[in-house]
Amino acid sequence: MHTADAPDPTSGALGPILARADALYHDLTLSAVREHKEAHGAKAIGCLPIWAPRELVDAAGMLPVGLHGAGDRVEVIRGDAYFQSYICQIPRSTIEVALTGRYDLLDGFLFPAICDVIRNLSGMWKILFPGKLSRYVDVPQNFDPAVGGAFFARELRALAEDLSALSGRPVTDEALHASIARYDENRRAIGELMALRERAPHKATASESYLVIRAGDVLPVEEHTAFVRAYVAAAEASDRKPRDHTRVVVTGAFCEQPPLGLIRTLERAGTYIVWDDMTLGARWPEGDVEGEDPDPFVALARAYIARSPATASRYEPSGEKGVPLARLTHKSRAEGVIFAAPSFCDPALLDQPMLTGALDREGVPWTAFKYAENLGQFQVIREQAGTFADSIRLWSDR
Ligand code: SF4
Repeated sequence: MHTADAPDPTSGALGPILARADALYHDLTLSAVREHKEAHGAKAIGCLPIWAPRELVDAAGMLPVGLHGAGDRVEVIRGDAYFQSYICQIPRSTIEVALTGRYDLLDGFLFPAICDVIRNLSGMWKILFPGKLSRYVDVPQNFDPAVGGAFFARELRALAEDLSALSGRPVTDEALHASIARYDENRRAIGELMALRERAPHKATASESYLVIRAGDVLPVEEHTAFVRAYVAAAEASDRKPRDHTRVVVTGAFCEQPPLGLIRTLERAGTYIVWDDMTLGARWPEGDVEGEDPDPFVALARAYIARSPATASRYEPSGEKGVPLARLTHKSRAEGVIFAAPSFCDPALLDQPMLTGALDREGVPWTAFKYAENLGQFQVIREQAGTFADSIRLWSDR
């Protein structure tokens, strides 16, 4: 239902774009993936958050599919039997969706090394689904290109061999260069969307941008690039008027995603979310990979080391936790920061004191709350975010 304090998403060219993005987001049966497989005879590989080298999957002739749990769209029954109660929600809903057969069309799964929960999930996968490719993707903890870079290039080559064996198509240097170019273009398009949000957040809202970027979970990369650019053009051309909202950064939501209703609640509470770390993997690394090195595996490894975004699950070689967030807040002209982390997310919650310390030193106001992907009640969060936004509007030097 359209409300008076939100732009009308059904008007003009935006309507069909957002309707498609919404349908793709809500379709847990992954019909777009099924259609792609039937049309192209291709296999598909599920990629868990945050970041996976989708270029390798694409270069092997398969479709990378982003998996972000099930949000508030499934009731977790069997998934609860596999995990203790004091961890986050995403592994339970991922198992639930898989056990109910909705991931049967996926031919393999990549589990990036971001935390113990995902590591354990990858082990459980090997036991539950022995017929599927199930690969833990280790990432460097040493950011010296000669050490961590060399290690990661080797790891990527080994992964490419596993993917090639599954698809029957070798990942040649030529094919990988072409895939890297496609993903560089995709990241550029998403960069244009993020720039519009920063420049004119009343035209490209966070909740709409979220849906548009999430469409890349299931669409082939070139189709998604065109989709993002169609949204940017339509949003830019819209006649949406700015409101007296408070510009904020939302951080902590890089893995288990907040329910869509929560993002909309923050907007209705009077905030413009000018930057967030939801769907961070789609914007990783920052900038182009092509050009880092003539060897495409080394290029991917170097880009990871040199230009991965600062986030809790990534090693921070400078030891300056929180400084990148403070910089980003100033750059995006945000007036405050909202820490929104999944309950029991160790990486996000262990980082928070260092991040808030850096903001305190810079005099940036912040507030914090926790969520679960299946949260259904937002009233308390609306009141907290609304009070936060109002206090900045009323008492800061704007
Ligand atoms: S939400 Fe946090 S703890 Fe849970 S799997 Fe993701 S990074 Fe790990």
